[in-house]
Amino acid sequence: MPEYQHRWLNGKAVDLPVGKVVCVGRNYAAHAKELNNPIPEKPILFIKPSTALVSLSEPIPLHEDQGGCHYETEIALLIGKPLQNASPGQANQAIKATGIALDLTLRDLQTQLKKESHPWEVAKGFDGACPISEWIPASELDPLDEIDLQLSINDEIRQQGNSRDMITAIPQLLAYMSSHFTLKPGDVVLTGTPAGVGALKKDDQLKLLLSGCYRFFGSAG
Ligand code: ZN
Repeated sequence: MPEYQHRWLNGKAVDLPVGKVVCVGRNYAAHAKELNNPIPEKPILFIKPSTALVSLSEPIPLHEDQGGCHYETEIALLIGKPLQNASPGQANQAIKATGIALDLTLRDLQTQLKKESHPWEVAKGFDGACPISEWIPASELDPLDEIDLQLSINDEIRQQGNSRDMITAIPQLLAYMSSHFTLKPGDVVLTGTPAGVGALKKDDQLKLLLSGCYRFFGSAG
């Protein structure tokens, strides 16, 4: 697996180290419902290590020996300034770029671990568990509360959402994250998935659409 480096849409390297990926579970009500989960009162946070990050253009490994590998399409943010106990306004200023990512989840393994009351880190934090697009400068994208995202598999739309439907909006989410984990330049934040998650199958062709006009492609297996 080639080492991941943040890249702009034009292929140039982003001048930032590659850090951790801080994620939120159940940030869209319709997705919480589809997995029979209650809507959380506070954001549910977890972390994928930097080794989870890979380019979306690499084939997505399915780990079929460990049960179903689910896609979760999410708006991704690249942090450009340190955030610790930040206000939503400070958090807003720290977003350097926006992209789109898959929060890959070994769902059967996660369900089993949850049932046993164990941490489910290995179901979400494995090598390659966060395929991610190139980055678009934050200034070029729609406002943070109006970002569209969409996933098609084999030309069929599977997930569709907009950041306006998030339970915790992006600036507030980053502020909350920074009260638990310092966010450093080069860290990535995933902002939750809309409804429609499901298992990937070998040779699936994925098309991810960000803000209606930025297209990225991936393939499984
Ligand atoms: Zn997710």
